[in-house]
Amino acid sequence: MDCLFCKIVEGKIPAKKLYEDEQVVAFHDINPQAPVHFLVIPKKHIATLQDVTEADRALLGHMLFIGQQLAVEQGCNQGFRTVFNCNEHGGQTVYHIHLHVLGKRQLSWPPG
Ligand code: C5P
Repeated sequence: MDCLFCKIVEGKIPAKKLYEDEQVVAFHDINPQAPVHFLVIPKKHIATLQDVTEADRALLGHMLFIGQQLAVEQGCNQGFRTVFNCNEHGGQTVYHIHLHVLGKRQLSWPPG
């Protein structure tokens, strides 16, 4: 399967990793949209949030928990944003689910 983020999981493409365990990898986004912008991805390939199943419930919770832990560790004490872009209308460009975590600047709402 030709998946960019699977290649990052396998170490075939370099990434500035922040964290790794048996279920997830977190790394700095290559094109950061805030002073802190990293992604938390599952090691398991799941294309979009529309493809998750009952079996993935704990994994999704783990992704969010690790995102929160790392946001604090990265100094986002004034808050941060977590985003899953899902499929075409959600603006997803890499089809391996990833949680964006952005912080250390004032973010606006609503998104474009
Ligand atoms: O949610 P979306 O699919 O649009 O986000 C993909 C993200 O993956 C982008 O923020 C992009 O900068 C990031 N990316 C990365 N490393 C790569 C390729 C893409 O951090 N090698």
